[in-house]
Amino acid sequence: MLKILLKGHDKYYATADVVRLFFPSPVEDKEGGMVFCKNAPDIEIVSELTPSGRCICHANGKEYFFDGRSEEAGREVKRSLYMALTDLTGIRPPWGCLTGIRPTLVALQTDSAEDLAERYLVRPDKAALALKTGREEVRILQKIAPADINIYIGIPFCPSRCEYCSFVSSDISHHMGRLKDYKEHLIEEIRLLSPKINRRIGTLYMGGGTPTVFDDEDFKELIDAVYENLAIDKDCEVTVEAGRPDTITRAKLKAMADHEIRRICINPQTMNDVTLAKLNRRHTAQDTLRAIEDAREMGFDVINSDIIAGLKYETADDLIDTAKKLIDLDLENITVHTLYKKRRASMSLADVMANDAAGDVDKAVSEVYLMLEEAGYRPYYMYKQKDTGHGLENTGFEKGDTACLYNVAMMTDARDVLSFGAGGMSKRVFGQVDTAKYRVERCSSSKDVLDYMMRTEEIAKKKADFFEL
Ligand code: SF4
Repeated sequence: MLKILLKGHDKYYATADVVRLFFPSPVEDKEGGMVFCKNAPDIEIVSELTPSGRCICHANGKEYFFDGRSEEAGREVKRSLYMALTDLTGIRPPWGCLTGIRPTLVALQTDSAEDLAERYLVRPDKAALALKTGREEVRILQKIAPADINIYIGIPFCPSRCEYCSFVSSDISHHMGRLKDYKEHLIEEIRLLSPKINRRIGTLYMGGGTPTVFDDEDFKELIDAVYENLAIDKDCEVTVEAGRPDTITRAKLKAMADHEIRRICINPQTMNDVTLAKLNRRHTAQDTLRAIEDAREMGFDVINSDIIAGLKYETADDLIDTAKKLIDLDLENITVHTLYKKRRASMSLADVMANDAAGDVDKAVSEVYLMLEEAGYRPYYMYKQKDTGHGLENTGFEKGDTACLYNVAMMTDARDVLSFGAGGMSKRVFGQVDTAKYRVERCSSSKDVLDYMMRTEEIAKKKADFFEL
């Protein structure tokens, strides 16, 4: 077990956040002044904040401290602990002691890749990526007027549950009846709120789950209702995250194309059929190719595909092969996600040290980034998830200035988002990011589909009050 005794400070969360970069599920024992982690090797560390504001970690008769510019206490604690754990475990998470979900924000604050690498111990290639991506986020954000409202419509159902899924999602193979009811309630919520929306709609994103999980008729009814009720003008960016290729039919593509929707996400995650079957995704690489071909034929001119690095059954070569196949299809957007590997939970230090898969995924992701940049793609938004496997990030790439504005609005927490459906989060942004007046207020819908359907009217009213509509 890993035990860290806190001395001269009470930075439990900062300490646990750094431990989480190395091992899962740290626990804070505030009465005992400790953070400990059972899923880790036997290591004892004393994390001491000295009166001069320097944090020193003592372990195995050694002292770990950063011998450069001094930072605020929380950062000092993280930095010295990161140094101790990298030395004691041999693991070197690429984002250094940065534990937040938005490395681009910190990169923009430092405005120097070198500074980011030095102060936060971030690997130089990641520091450069964060700064480049952060600058793109700023450039793209300027295309979304702060006075506009951005709309999210959530469909938390999928044809089957992927083995790695951690989202709020219901397996419709068990809830077919509920899917139709959900559509009705979603349309009702849109009808209740739409007359009150007195702001221009800047972007609209339909996501999931799998929005194309409906049958052709219900899907068309939903899309038509969205356009009948919401004032979507010709400059509004509309994106439908179709997701699973096997749910995409020509009739559904036509339902979207009839409203001049031109952006769609067709997400294979991998182009390896063996992996797809093991993951319970119930589609093949050929389904992806067919869906992309149909979408192109119907006039969709921005297609995004998501891929996942670190899938349980895949090697680095599989990831590179998937990326190559998608690049060859000349897609406008490719988003590279990294997966949290739960099996790390039961690993001993010996397992971790012997397991070179983490390093392989890291190298493969770097190689995929290089392939994308050589093919003309640019990173334009990025985020990290807590407990992301291998300490890696998720990065969206685009080419030809086709970035998805909604993604940037959502990820940067810099624009208002009104969310319809179960599980969605609406948010209002006050003041400009990085100013004293900046703050974000959030209003959640119900995550439970049944509860959402029972309280649709009440939930719509709550959102109307939240936005003062
Ligand atoms: S498609 Fe996405 S939301 Fe649906 S089950 Fe798979 S991972 Fe979960």
